[in-house]
Amino acid sequence: GTHTRCDADTGIYTSNVDYSPETASCVYEYLLGSVDFDDQQEVLRECSGGRSISLGRLKLDAQRLGTGLVHKCKLKPGDTVLLYLYSSIDFAVALLASQFAGLRVALANPDYLPTELKHVYRLTKPKKVFVQSRYMHRLSKAAIGGQSVIITDGDVAGFGGVLSIKGLMTNEAAAKQAKLHVPADLSETAYLPFSSGTTGLPKAVEISHSNVINMVEIFRHTPTLFPKHEDGSEMQFRALNFLPFFHAYALILMLHYPIRTRGHTSIMRPFQPEAYCRLAADLNVNFLTLVPPVLTLLTKHPDATPEAFRSVKQAICGAAPLDFETQHAFTQKTGVPVQQAFGMTETTVGALGLPGDEPSGSVGCLYPATKARIRDVQSGKHLGPGQRGELLIQGPQVCKGYYGNPTATRDTFTEDGYLRTGDIAIVNPRTGEFSIVDRLKELIKYKGFQVAPAELEGVLVSHPAIAAAAVVGVYDKQQGTELPLAFVELKAGHAKDAKVAKDIDSFVRAKVSHHKYLRGGIRFLDKIPVSASGKILRKEIRKLLSAEVQS
Ligand code: ATP
Ligand code: MG
Repeated sequence: GTHTRCDADTGIYTSNVDYSPETASCVYEYLLGSVDFDDQQEVLRECSGGRSISLGRLKLDAQRLGTGLVHKCKLKPGDTVLLYLYSSIDFAVALLASQFAGLRVALANPDYLPTELKHVYRLTKPKKVFVQSRYMHRLSKAAIGGQSVIITDGDVAGFGGVLSIKGLMTNEAAAKQAKLHVPADLSETAYLPFSSGTTGLPKAVEISHSNVINMVEIFRHTPTLFPKHEDGSEMQFRALNFLPFFHAYALILMLHYPIRTRGHTSIMRPFQPEAYCRLAADLNVNFLTLVPPVLTLLTKHPDATPEAFRSVKQAICGAAPLDFETQHAFTQKTGVPVQQAFGMTETTVGALGLPGDEPSGSVGCLYPATKARIRDVQSGKHLGPGQRGELLIQGPQVCKGYYGNPTATRDTFTEDGYLRTGDIAIVNPRTGEFSIVDRLKELIKYKGFQVAPAELEGVLVSHPAIAAAAVVGVYDKQQGTELPLAFVELKAGHAKDAKVAKDIDSFVRAKVSHHKYLRGGIRFLDKIPVSASGKILRKEIRKLLSAEVQS
């Protein structure tokens, strides 16, 4: 293939792209080491309220707060702090301040329910939690309060002894003189982001300084990723971000990348299609970072026009499967080319996404410096192109393991140090592009035959009455096997009745082989539960099923 080489003896796929990374002593130095305190270039902007910050100010504020965390809070290198924050400038300041002080940063979703937050808190044992004042009550519900809380905004009065960023900031002169804490080794943990929790409780992933630096460098070495001028020089990266910084995707691409490359990110929250299309034009955005549900929505939205996206050169779409028809329809409608990308929290963010020669709806070739194998699920043998098996990944962006969970870490790495993605993939023998076929944990076994939910879901959503679908396996005692069962969300104007169900069943039978028929039945749901990044929340679906069994 074009960018992928496969060694026939070992079954190892490697990237052909040159990789000669720059490095630094830690994430902080890598990002801000060469920035002057009086550097005026704007790097982040909040669309609502219009607050913005320059690179120099970001560095100064990070050092003012970082010094406060050391001297006023008495935090020590290697201590953990937890960010319980939505995307904002304060998020960036708190993150970089903690990095300046040599702290590990755990990144939690502020939408977590008290039970999930307690899980995160117990696991990472943070010395301090950063939170916006208006979400303080969520911490209180998980019995977190007092001096262990730092609010990012507003006044601490009336909050029972909590601290504030404002109160902790030291004066500028002291901050400028302060000494950066450099970790003894680049393999020390910088971040503890959480996996999405699609298949179970979210896991804390140990991301090292080296992982972060390499991930940004890998993107910088990916020839097709970021817009270039006609002479080949790089354009300034200008993004409009609605994704949360606490997840790998936006954390690296929309926060670290622009800081390192003197790019710019505008933060919008929440996503709103009209505003998104208007802002993309107003802000001269040249790079769109999308997820499947948003891309799909834009494909049908009247405001998503070539005019709205006139400055946009490229879009990237990742986090969940996207079918080729929709990818193609988006480009047809908007004129914006789309690259799909595959990654996971465990790969800092990216592993695949370099487009091959022909657009095909795949997730592309390996990123620079990244290796892969395809392993047969049953025999454990390594498979060549054209055969489907579990995708294994190795590279300088692959995490150290799961924090506080050596068992999960052992189970997730092979003996020779490859990360088990838990995803089923197949490599195109001609182009070297990878396609993600399904997730291992979600494969349904019907009488020994494998049924991929994603495949059936793809067929289902092509039915004219169906808006969204989720397929799971339901165990049938009588037959002693799992049966594929579909939950479907109908488009407006379609009745949830037996006639429609019958029609859907016949539709599927006409398109898939015998063992994939929906023998478990078809259930109607008002809304298929999906995460913010467009992942079907199958554990929620399974909950519906087990509730049914019990009642
Ligand atoms: P958990 O591991 O906690 O159950 P999760 O795996 O969904 O949750 P993430 O690390 O956010 O958490 O997501 C990684 C997963 O997302 C991958 O393993 C893969 O299943 C899916 N994924 C990411 N990008 C793509 C893509 N382009 N196409 C298909 N699937 C993708
Ligand atoms: Mg996962």
